[in-house]
Amino acid sequence: MIKEPVNIIGAGPAGLTAGIVLRRHGFPVRVYEMSSEVGHRLNGDFQGLENWTSEKDITGLLREIGIETNFLCVPYHRGIIYAPEMKPAEMKSERPIFYLVKRGTMPGTLDMGLKEQALSLGVEILFNHRLDKFDGKAIVGTGPKGADAVAVGITFETKMKDQAFAVLDDNIAPKGYAYLLINQGYGTMVTVLYREYKRENEYFERMLKFFRDTINPDIRNERRFGCYGNFFIWDTQIHHEKLYVGESAGFQDCLWGFGMRYAILSGYLAAKSLIEGSDYDMLWQRELKPMLETSLINRYLFEKIGPAGYRYLAKKFADSNPCDFLRKHYNYSFFKHLLLPMAKKKYESKVKDTNCNHENCTCVWCKCGESACP
Ligand SMILES: Cc1cc2nc3c(=O)[nH]c(=O)nc-3n(C[C@H](O)[C@H](O)[C@H](O)COP(=O)(O)OP(=O)(O)OC[C@H]3O[C@@H](n4cnc5c(N)ncnc54)[C@H](O)[C@@H]3O)c2cc1C
Repeated sequence: MIKEPVNIIGAGPAGLTAGIVLRRHGFPVRVYEMSSEVGHRLNGDFQGLENWTSEKDITGLLREIGIETNFLCVPYHRGIIYAPEMKPAEMKSERPIFYLVKRGTMPGTLDMGLKEQALSLGVEILFNHRLDKFDGKAIVGTGPKGADAVAVGITFETKMKDQAFAVLDDNIAPKGYAYLLINQGYGTMVTVLYREYKRENEYFERMLKFFRDTINPDIRNERRFGCYGNFFIWDTQIHHEKLYVGESAGFQDCLWGFGMRYAILSGYLAAKSLIEGSDYDMLWQRELKPMLETSLINRYLFEKIGPAGYRYLAKKFADSNPCDFLRKHYNYSFFKHLLLPMAKKKYESKVKDTNCNHENCTCVWCKCGESACP
């Protein structure tokens, strides 16, 4: 049977995963990418592929959906966590808490690994092709469009050994967190702000001072970067025959921004819906929505706790198995879901395209023409 070609807009982890899975099932695939290379939005920084939300190890899950780990993917079993006015707490787990991956345009990154897999399977990637309008069916994975969280940080060279640190402190990362990840002579230090974006320089300086005063990292050849993340929950992710995946669908961990898992899984689910002829909305609502909603409620609760709450969390991470503790709190709970209406009201999507005329809209990311959209 001849399979209909699939167009994908955006060569991030979501779009590339969809392309890889579709090619494995014999679909001709063309990906449009606005930049000259994949991973352009990222900066050679380390990120954590979280390993707590599913019982199954994330690398096993990737293998199952047809994604190879041909990129830097290092298990981290421990980390030090800081909260105000308390001694640093060490969390440890036999199961990796997260896998450290690198993001960006250089060799070894998740982005380059996915690109290589896609190209070797025969996915066509058209670089320097920005598509703002597209008629007809497509998968859209164009990434975040609004800032619900802002990240500022540095990548650097160092002589420190491989380790991971996290900080919960509103004076360093208001309603967010800061982290320092070291691997094989390179480091990434970032503060993630969920408030007071305009004071990003001040919070960046405070984070730098904090890490200098506490662990005195040896920082050389640093390069500064800044970026943002976007989350929202809508009832449908099919708009004008387009299936939205990854952060362009608002799929993001609303609590702490661990969006890579959502991006990859939603790309897989969009591909699966085309392969099987099944309903994409039904698939993501079943597989992703309960966790997505819980993360929104977690954000709502996290914003209410202050230093005492941060100390409680740090202590819990240290005293229990951090993967089990996080899995319990990241997954669906009936009582927690009673808070959903309040959480939804508080965090309304910032995605609004004021330039769109809304009539017969074919915009790649504006969904305003849809009656189902808020
Ligand atoms: C500083 C920072 C730290 C992070 N840390 C973590 C972490 O530790 N763990 C984690 O799980 N997640 C983390 N995230 C989130 C994670 O990076 C994202 O959720 C994930 O990359 C989203 O993937 P995506 O494919 O949806 O979008 P993207 O990765 O943004 O890819 C979208 C692609 O679409 C292209 N594009 C956009 N518009 C168009 C257009 N009109 N036409 C053609 N192409 C277009 C872009 O150039 C880009 O290549 C972090 C994010 C940031 C910014």
